[in-house]
Amino acid sequence: MTRNQNDNARGKDTQLAHLGRDPAGFHGFVNPPVVHASTVLFPDVETMASGGQKYVYGRRGTPTTEALETALTELEGAAGTRLANSGLNAVALACLSCLNAGDHILIPDTAYGPTRHFAQTVLPKFNIEAEYYAPTLNAEISGLFKPNTRAVFTEAPGSLTFEMQDIPAIAKAAHAIDATVLMDNTWASPLYCQPIALGVDLSIQAGTKYIVGHSDVMLGTISASERAWPALDHLYGAMGAHVAPDDVYLALRGLRTLSVRLERHMSNTLDVIDWLKDQAHVGAIRYPALETDPGHDLWKRDFSGSSGLFGFDFAPGTAPEQASAFFNALSLFGLGYSWGGFESLAIPVRLKGVRTVTEPDPDVRSARLHIGLEDPEDLIKDLGQAFDKAFA
Ligand SMILES: *Cc1c(COP(=O)(O)O)cnc(C)c1O
Repeated sequence: MTRNQNDNARGKDTQLAHLGRDPAGFHGFVNPPVVHASTVLFPDVETMASGGQKYVYGRRGTPTTEALETALTELEGAAGTRLANSGLNAVALACLSCLNAGDHILIPDTAYGPTRHFAQTVLPKFNIEAEYYAPTLNAEISGLFKPNTRAVFTEAPGSLTFEMQDIPAIAKAAHAIDATVLMDNTWASPLYCQPIALGVDLSIQAGTKYIVGHSDVMLGTISASERAWPALDHLYGAMGAHVAPDDVYLALRGLRTLSVRLERHMSNTLDVIDWLKDQAHVGAIRYPALETDPGHDLWKRDFSGSSGLFGFDFAPGTAPEQASAFFNALSLFGLGYSWGGFESLAIPVRLKGVRTVTEPDPDVRSARLHIGLEDPEDLIKDLGQAFDKAFA
């Protein structure tokens, strides 16, 4: 759904509480209805033929999908938003909307793994070439442009290694050749980074993470600039994409508390990192909100907050068995994929063979932690006992 310009001047917390709601339109109920629908009836054949009725078929949108799309369009400062059935599906639809057969797309080496898998296995079917670039190339990315470069993908901070990217510089370079700029903005959420204001054309969220926020729904969102919206809207309709109403409703409910949750994720994360940095078995910590992080200046310039996901390396010399023992000893941190829910999670990270342009040290053992909404003192205790057990 497209934007209503009126709400732009309001603060983000006010927007989160009010966007996408029209109580007067639904008998005064605070929240929009969950509309389960395929068929929509028309009063007569003339209306049917005119295309003038607001809702025509469940797949093409309902008051429920419209509520979330409108909210995100305003929050993102976009021309329009479409929902996808997962974050990965949002990446795929966004790419397909701006690429044609024979095109070339640049993707950061640090892109989310399944994004790479999509680019490696689906884009070649359309003779589209995906080329990877070092995430910190920034304005110099223009050196990789080819006559058929039509899109530049970005993701900041990068998956697993958290490198920041100079999004405005990349967008400027890409727009000079009229290429579309995509950004996977899942880490910061639309609350802490507004990609479209930074020059991005297609702003992508794995809504599964912070928007939903409760580890119970898969959802993706794509918000488009004026320039990218018509192609996105067309592809979306042609592909038959659709998200079920209960899931849309849960995402809308999650959105209302995004700000208070993120604030706590951020402060808990800073507490945990403050303890972690002095631990003997911890090496580098990767989190752009830290002053010591190489991406800190870009983060400070372009983002207004940081979330609960970061990485750390085990100290040099850590044996694989010790790293495994650390993860197995955790009790509050669950071992599991995804993140952005209320609970803390951990995964082991091994970059051997994952990247193709940058060269992470193959011997380093790392961890990715998601810091949830638990008491940070308890999380620190859990990490402490796991280090003690693993390195006893
Ligand atoms: C999780 C994730 C995705 C994919 O989201 P799903 O909803 O799990 O498909 C995309 N990008 C990033 C950065 C992610 O962390």
